[in-house]
Amino acid sequence: MDKIVHDVVIVGGGTAGWMTAAALSKVVGIHNYSITLIESEEIGTVGVGEATIPAIQNFNDLLVLNEDEFVRETNATFKLGIHFVDWKKEGESYIHPFGVYGSNMDGINFDHFWMRYYRSGGNPDIGLFNAETVAARQNRFARSKATDPGNWPKINYAFHFDASLYAKYLRGYSEYRGVVRQEGKIVKVNQDPESGFVTSVQLENGKVINGDLFIDCSGFRGLLIEQTLKSGYEDWSKWLPCNRAVAVPTEKVNGPIKPYVTCTAREAGWQWHIPLQHRTGNGYVFCSDFISEDEATEKLLSRLENRPLKDPKVLRFVTGHRNQMWNRNVLAFGLSSGFLEPLESTSIHLVQVAIQKLITMFPKRGFVQSVIDNYNREMLDEYVNVKDFLIAHYFVTQRDESPFWQYCRNMDIPDSLRERLDIYVNTGTAGVKLHELFKETSWFAVLMGQGLEPREYHPVADVISEDELKLRLAKIRTGIQQRVDSMTSHDDFIARHCAAQGMAMTA
Ligand SMILES: Cc1cc2nc3c(=O)[nH]c(=O)nc-3n(C[C@H](O)[C@H](O)[C@H](O)COP(=O)(O)OP(=O)(O)OC[C@H]3O[C@@H](n4cnc5c(N)ncnc54)[C@H](O)[C@@H]3O)c2cc1C
Repeated sequence: MDKIVHDVVIVGGGTAGWMTAAALSKVVGIHNYSITLIESEEIGTVGVGEATIPAIQNFNDLLVLNEDEFVRETNATFKLGIHFVDWKKEGESYIHPFGVYGSNMDGINFDHFWMRYYRSGGNPDIGLFNAETVAARQNRFARSKATDPGNWPKINYAFHFDASLYAKYLRGYSEYRGVVRQEGKIVKVNQDPESGFVTSVQLENGKVINGDLFIDCSGFRGLLIEQTLKSGYEDWSKWLPCNRAVAVPTEKVNGPIKPYVTCTAREAGWQWHIPLQHRTGNGYVFCSDFISEDEATEKLLSRLENRPLKDPKVLRFVTGHRNQMWNRNVLAFGLSSGFLEPLESTSIHLVQVAIQKLITMFPKRGFVQSVIDNYNREMLDEYVNVKDFLIAHYFVTQRDESPFWQYCRNMDIPDSLRERLDIYVNTGTAGVKLHELFKETSWFAVLMGQGLEPREYHPVADVISEDELKLRLAKIRTGIQQRVDSMTSHDDFIARHCAAQGMAMTA
């Protein structure tokens, strides 16, 4: 008879480890289980990963966090979207907003009506029809309230936070709920000689920690999933060639804190700028075939807006995923399961998805191979969808001034993306399926922003008269502007609700 699953061991205390500990301690609880998290201060964490997407609100809801407290404790700011600078070509930019454009009409997506309007000489700035974009441009922010006038969708937002403070915050949450933290470096992993299941891990000080279920959150090294179980890795770097990042925090921004991340295309990759309450996160993500680590570091330092607070740190990675993210009694979460570069801030989200799937399929007695296979298929699907969206940013561009961009423009893209681009060009719709993370608005924003316009829009958008079309769009635009006018500044919102300790913020 299979053994009842009782002892859960989480290996690693970075973002992935503490998110897992927090969620399991809340949902699965410690009444029938023991939950131990092992981390090594000597090894430390990757220390980056500061931008999120709106789905993190579901994770916060699962933990029943007080959002203001969470923002305060992690020195967070609000994020309404991503500002892509110079991606189509130098001198042009667009915002990929959270939230939708306009509102759907006559059963058809707003984008089609906007295409008709734009083709007939209307304002080419689609951002005017998205509340998150208009608010971002004006550094404004407010949460939607049930009492807000009009019938508008909720303001969609995520957060930028300090990764180490986030782990600390979730550690407090988890320990309060009974998770036992074990400091120490794992030097040996023991397996059942017949099944290959991991039975225990041994620390440098000799202590042995037994487990029934292991969650590998050990980062890129994949201590259990790869070093022990040899699960294999699918390398996607031919499509996503960036394989390095150099990161450096700087002093906080002068002037208003922007409620969005800025990603600026560079000669061999792109640079991020993430505003937090107390500092700014900066990094250059690049491909080492086209620029050396030293040169990329120099370029990054020369382009900083403010004084660095630490020495720059180079991180190396290979974009792709583990062939089995659940193997025997080990699940890999976070960087140990794979890595899609951070252009659309999806890694923390993929940790969250993995946690939610584990909770849904939580093993009670032993491990069932069909459940494991199903989990692996579902997780792979999540990775594939994100992968295609990321590739589109590099492939659909007019940049060709450097060998890196010439490579990206001419690379052989996956069939799934080729088909999607074809559908989009011919129908104005990207054919997004229900379960996909990035919805039609995201594809439309990015593809239009990168300079790919559909040839066609939906025929229903031609049914109303031109005057009626203009009238409807003017109404939507005015409504959005009024909505944004009623918001306070982002700085003021933080100052009033969730300023971190020691942060004297003024509007
Ligand atoms: C350049 C870059 C930028 C990124 N930006 C974003 C972003 O904006 N948004 C986003 O969502 N994600 C981003 N990510 C991804 C994000 O950083 C990670 O998904 C997240 O931090 C999770 O990391 P982790 O916990 O898996 O690994 P780590 O942070 O590496 O943690 C590993 C843990 O395992 C422990 N450990 C390892 N080996 C041992 C051992 N032998 N014994 C004991 N303990 C051990 C370590 O001590 C540590 O606690 C970025 C990643 C990179 C590389």
